[in-house]
Amino acid sequence: MLQPLRFILILLLLQSATGASAVAGVIDQNLFIHLFPAEHRLEGKAILSPAEGQPGWPPGFLLSARAEIDTLTADGKPVPYVFDNGHLKIGLTNRISALTITYRIRFDDPVPQNPVGIEDPSYGVTATIMPQGTYLSANSGWHPLPVDAESRFFVTISGPSGLTGVTAGRLVELTTSSTETRTAWKTQRPQTALTLAAGPYQLFREDLGEIQVLVFFGAANAALARDYLDACREFLHLYQTLFSPYPYAKFAVVENFYPTGYGLPGWTLLGSSVIRLPFIRSTSLPHEIAHAWWGNAIEVDYRSGNWCEGLATYVADYYLKELHDPAGALEYRRKLLRDYAALVESGDDLPLSAFHSRTTKRDQAVGYGKAAMVFHMLRNRIGDQAFWSGLQAAARNGLGKRYAWSDLQRHFEETSGTNLERFFQQWVQWTGAPQLRLTDVQAKAVADSWHVTGTLAQTAPHYDLLVPVRLASATQVVDQVVSLGEEEHRFDFTVTDVPVNLSVDPQNDIFRRLYPEEVPATINNLRASRAPLVIVATGSEERLDAARDLLRGLQWNRAPVLSEKEYLAQRPVNHDLLILGWPESKVLRPELPDGIRITGQQFTIDDKLYAETGDVLFMVLDSLQTRRVAGYFVTGSVGAAEDAARRIPHYGRYSLLVFRNGQNQIKSTWEPVKSPLKYLFDEEAVQ
Ligand SMILES: [Zn+2]
Repeated sequence: MLQPLRFILILLLLQSATGASAVAGVIDQNLFIHLFPAEHRLEGKAILSPAEGQPGWPPGFLLSARAEIDTLTADGKPVPYVFDNGHLKIGLTNRISALTITYRIRFDDPVPQNPVGIEDPSYGVTATIMPQGTYLSANSGWHPLPVDAESRFFVTISGPSGLTGVTAGRLVELTTSSTETRTAWKTQRPQTALTLAAGPYQLFREDLGEIQVLVFFGAANAALARDYLDACREFLHLYQTLFSPYPYAKFAVVENFYPTGYGLPGWTLLGSSVIRLPFIRSTSLPHEIAHAWWGNAIEVDYRSGNWCEGLATYVADYYLKELHDPAGALEYRRKLLRDYAALVESGDDLPLSAFHSRTTKRDQAVGYGKAAMVFHMLRNRIGDQAFWSGLQAAARNGLGKRYAWSDLQRHFEETSGTNLERFFQQWVQWTGAPQLRLTDVQAKAVADSWHVTGTLAQTAPHYDLLVPVRLASATQVVDQVVSLGEEEHRFDFTVTDVPVNLSVDPQNDIFRRLYPEEVPATINNLRASRAPLVIVATGSEERLDAARDLLRGLQWNRAPVLSEKEYLAQRPVNHDLLILGWPESKVLRPELPDGIRITGQQFTIDDKLYAETGDVLFMVLDSLQTRRVAGYFVTGSVGAAEDAARRIPHYGRYSLLVFRNGQNQIKSTWEPVKSPLKYLFDEEAVQ
């Protein structure tokens, strides 16, 4: 599924455009933007002046290279200027108090009709004005950007009647006449640049105290507005309690006409289809609200790595599960470890200090997943009190500043009274994850109790870890935390009756590299494959064309394709396989998991027969070749194959999927067979 995203291009762009120098000065911008959707263009008027008490004019401005400047006046008089390739230079003295620019820009980036399998979350769209909707990103230059300065904005957006524009800031006007709709927005805190969206929206509103809570949806999604307002209010309330007062005047959920999931200062822009997904309200929405603090009001110093995705993932996607569904929280931690194991090869890893934004699933497994686990381990190490007060201190002190990992470290050290240098060093600067071993486990009867010993070990480099270890006997469960700082550490337990099993990190609280046998084969393994091979089963030739969205979604569009006969003649080795249709040859037929039977294009799961033309089975199994996987795509018809092909790539963490007429019926992940970190006592070991 689409993951929520931070929009960081603008920061990177401006840092490079301005040599990353510190922001000097604040400009007040009064903008009037009129949209002409049928003509894909806007007309703008910008009245600029240095904010009160500010040093003066910036050395220049950036504006879209596509802009045509109509007039440029200083205090009402024309002034000479040079506008070259997006750079606007004007000779301004500090005696001039206001600069007025009128301009026109055509924005018509094409919007993809079928975005399946495009990993680039922007779909290549920087700015576009069309009858279906308007999206102008902050880095498109739709308004002047003062070089080396930030701006406070008063923006009036107008367009044909019914076309409502949204941007950052507080909504101060919304009027509609028979010919025109107009909104106006006022920002408080200086910002670099604004994003703008517009569409045929209806406004739904229910404020929370001083905070405007707004939903801008088109007619087709209007029925969902109530639920979105309720969810926004709930999460704003929760995070104000956990962090600090909400740092913006409004929070708005705004519909986009193609499937984005953008988090912007004080608002989020979600695609029409994304809004309708039931889980968005409990996952992406709180994630974006958390970004109001982490990443927006407290900005990220990207030079030392992006910490805000891991933190937003931890306090939203993860922590809400912990509050309402502890089993779901455990499953979520497991998922993060499995994603890392399945998507990140050790030679292809990166440290958190090098993560900037998600461009691949691998980056996501590190920058979101590993980083979320780092916050989890930090919380376990310093305790809830110090953890949440550390975040509160960061939220208060970091407002309007650019924070690095080291700034967060400083706040957590202050609230916990603990030196966290080694902790942050190993998790942020080092590449990879520890791998743990459990050895020498023994149990001895001593008087009327049992003495259990064992060794917990790790491969180099040696992490400083607090590892939970759990011993279960027939009547007791005893937990202890083993401090592992070097290569190995002996531990011991005493229990009053016969020990049954011993497990290391039973609740998956530690970020570590899982053993292959702990990782069930999933769709993510196919996606991570570097040696993909598609095999078309005899009689299923029509499925190849029908599966093209699946191949695109798995990033397999360049994978070689063989027919079943060609495969049997060549027998290539060391490939991950995707088999379209059920093969005739026994060589290609796997040993099926219990409860699953397949004949032709029909299948049975737990005694339920799937024999309709709309039925689809997709499963991923460990291949007979070591460390390889094989996917099987069995479909009742070409139409069903085509439909499921679009859906399957969104279910990366699953091993088995069943669809009927486009509806998901079964999604499950195989249970891992065993773990080297679990020890079962048999009678011989218990002496
Ligand atoms: Zn995010």
